[in-house]
Amino acid sequence: MAYNFFVKSDIVFGCGSASALPEVLTQYQAKNVMVVYDAGVKAAGISEKVLGFIEKAGVNTVIFDKVMPNPTNELVEEAAVIAKDAGIDVFVAVGGGSSIDLAKAINILMTNPGPIGNYGGIGMVKNNVLPLIAIPTTAGTSSEITNVSALIDTEKVCKYVVIDDKIVPSKVIIDPEFTRTMPVSVTAATGMDAITHAVESYISNMATPLTQYNSVKGLQILHENLPKVVANGDDMDAREQMMLGCIITGFGFSNANLGLVHGIAHTLSAHFHLPHGMANACVLPYVMEFNAESCPDQMVELAKAIGLETSGNVDADKYLLAGELKKLIGLLGIKTLSQQGIEKKDFEMLAEDVLKEPVLNFNPRQGITKEQILDILEKAY
Ligand SMILES: [Zn+2]
Repeated sequence: MAYNFFVKSDIVFGCGSASALPEVLTQYQAKNVMVVYDAGVKAAGISEKVLGFIEKAGVNTVIFDKVMPNPTNELVEEAAVIAKDAGIDVFVAVGGGSSIDLAKAINILMTNPGPIGNYGGIGMVKNNVLPLIAIPTTAGTSSEITNVSALIDTEKVCKYVVIDDKIVPSKVIIDPEFTRTMPVSVTAATGMDAITHAVESYISNMATPLTQYNSVKGLQILHENLPKVVANGDDMDAREQMMLGCIITGFGFSNANLGLVHGIAHTLSAHFHLPHGMANACVLPYVMEFNAESCPDQMVELAKAIGLETSGNVDADKYLLAGELKKLIGLLGIKTLSQQGIEKKDFEMLAEDVLKEPVLNFNPRQGITKEQILDILEKAY
């Protein structure tokens, strides 16, 4: 059977790679640059370093530093007005998924009419966008290499995604040094997001040999190195490996898509503003127990890939991965749903909204019911 595998990333990778920024801006003939980041990036002194490199290129700079976790339509529209007024011709996004996703969305509105909500879905962006340079400071979302921007529609109270090959960042600068100051809780949550991407894409019903090759390799690297960076944030070898694992996994999941874990996480973030990685991590093992009924062989393959000892009995071995993920979230201090402030009275509403999530179409176990989602939420409580 024939299949597509899409990769469109131009990557500079390695410690010190941020110094390439002035040259990249010159290549794009940048005159007016919007730099998009959040308060965490500023507090860590990273924006200062990036702005220093941009200064060397001799361009005008407009700063948009109001990025919030789970960016909203309103924030996109506000930033787009500023960018248009300033005649922005190149974007630089510095940060995690929220900064990069926001920059992708602002960029859409530079060459396409608003509102941004019109572009939810696959391939809805008509006109090509401006150059966007992505500089990730977390190892998690892989937004720097994907064609996805995840946004919150505050009116409909849902997280939706714009998926379009036109919005892939035109240049990616991956400097692991920028992840050194990431707080432990963010390191753990974003790392678990990456592990969720690897697992969900491997078992996705869109998976192909090319995506699975990336997903399994990514999982091996992330599983080995996430505990190391959480234990010691200065372990730069492990930090670099996390960035590598993220990129490899990103190539996999941006082609194979995700599943029920992300469906639940999007709903939790839309209603209760849970950070994306935390929302994924606390339900991941329980969704994998649930999915194991539909894809036992793949569950065993993943368990073997990360070195778990199998018995040869698939009925027992299919739960090994879920067991290991439970241990991992315990080790990393991932909070349960109740510890993140979710109350049981909201489960019914959440379960009903999860059923509306388009990403459920790619989950290996189909025919998902409200009762099954309630059971997963109960286990993650
Ligand atoms: Zn994710």
